[in-house]
Amino acid sequence: MSAQSPLTAIPAQRRIGMVSLGCPKALVDSERILTRLRADGYAMSPDYAGADVVLVNTCGFLDSAKEESLAAIGEAIAENGRVIVTGCMGNEAEAIRAKFPAVLAVTGAHQYEAVVEAVHEAAPPGQGPFVDLVPQTDIKLTPRHYSYLKISEGCNHACAFCIIPQLRGKLASRRIDAVLREAEKLVAAGTRELLVISQDTSAYGVDIRHEIRDWHGHPVRAHMTDLARELGQLRTPEGLTPWVRLHYVYPYPHVDDVIPLMAEGLLTPYLDIPFQHASPKILKAMKRPANEAKVLERLRNWRDICPDIAIRSSFVVGFPGETEEDFQYLLDWLDEAHLDRVGAFRFEPVEGAAANDLPGAVPEEVKEERYARIMAKTEAISAARLSAKIGRVLPVIIDEVGEPDEDGDIGATGRSQADAPEIDGNVFLRDVPYTLAPGDIVDVLVEDADAHDLFGVVARG
Ligand code: SF4
Repeated sequence: MSAQSPLTAIPAQRRIGMVSLGCPKALVDSERILTRLRADGYAMSPDYAGADVVLVNTCGFLDSAKEESLAAIGEAIAENGRVIVTGCMGNEAEAIRAKFPAVLAVTGAHQYEAVVEAVHEAAPPGQGPFVDLVPQTDIKLTPRHYSYLKISEGCNHACAFCIIPQLRGKLASRRIDAVLREAEKLVAAGTRELLVISQDTSAYGVDIRHEIRDWHGHPVRAHMTDLARELGQLRTPEGLTPWVRLHYVYPYPHVDDVIPLMAEGLLTPYLDIPFQHASPKILKAMKRPANEAKVLERLRNWRDICPDIAIRSSFVVGFPGETEEDFQYLLDWLDEAHLDRVGAFRFEPVEGAAANDLPGAVPEEVKEERYARIMAKTEAISAARLSAKIGRVLPVIIDEVGEPDEDGDIGATGRSQADAPEIDGNVFLRDVPYTLAPGDIVDVLVEDADAHDLFGVVARG
């Protein structure tokens, strides 16, 4: 018999630290990488000190994001020293290596194989009993009750201000059955809200000619309307319909087909449509997809079919060539469109973007002034739309439950169907039942509102 204890034969489990920067799409990439690594026998480290190697998933879209990414790489090197860089800034491997020669490897956005290989090389995985004991569930970096569902990578458009197609390549859609299987698994594991993301959700499946796959015995196309319909059929283990939110939708004609699903309660009545501008001249200069004149009419039709639909959008002010007249056109359009949620950005040249060469640069002070005006306008619209909800009972998903105060009252923070996590507003609840937990969906009586948030109390049946 060997004198060696069987325990000493088990190799130490390697630990991975992860710093994830950027948009929800990058977060999904981080989740995928970590899920792969865990299946290979790695554990996650919550801090630099306990990690055998640190992965930094970078964002390289705006200059400010690049700076943040470089700072994160620098911090990881100083704190740990064994660093692998991945994500959008991976395209700038030379610049990263020049600044941080100690970086072990640099891989690009969604090069999962390459990053996993680099980790294997830097910290070879342990072999033996651990590997078989690793649970095979996916790793999520979002709270358990909501999850991002990424349906495609890349983009076929060429918007003048954007370098995503250069960074992430052409549209590459996932198989519809793979997307639906992932959604089904997430809902079975506790997800109550699915957030469908991509660069252009309405274009889903175009690159694979909307190929048909079998799903639970019937054919489904890789197409946004089929996807929406099938997601609307999902049920939680308690038999509830999970919330399904569509992000990055362009107003192509087939978007009309999903509005009735929202009216039926099968899809969350919410559309995130990045309009970016309203002036036809600026939209043309921006080379935006689905740039057509009848958007206001479409919005009116959608609201006729589904009065509760919430529309979120984002706009860029100070794009090259934007005159006061173009900007005023946008403000007047917003008065008509009456959007629920708006994010505004001052135009910022991004290295490599076509817009940088356009004539008519808008001076910084004019951008600032327009930004202040669009913010004032959209806040007033948001305040009016939210105050119209006072007195109504709305479903709210709970994100966080507080501790009891000195009187024993507990508050909670949630979101209505009009609020996506991270980007929209909240619903603040008072005096909630002590049994309330994150992920619960409850009816709430709205008592008050400001420009961004609602305030209320759980409605007593
Ligand atoms: S649709 Fe335009 S802004 Fe969006 S990723 Fe594609 S090129 Fe960029």
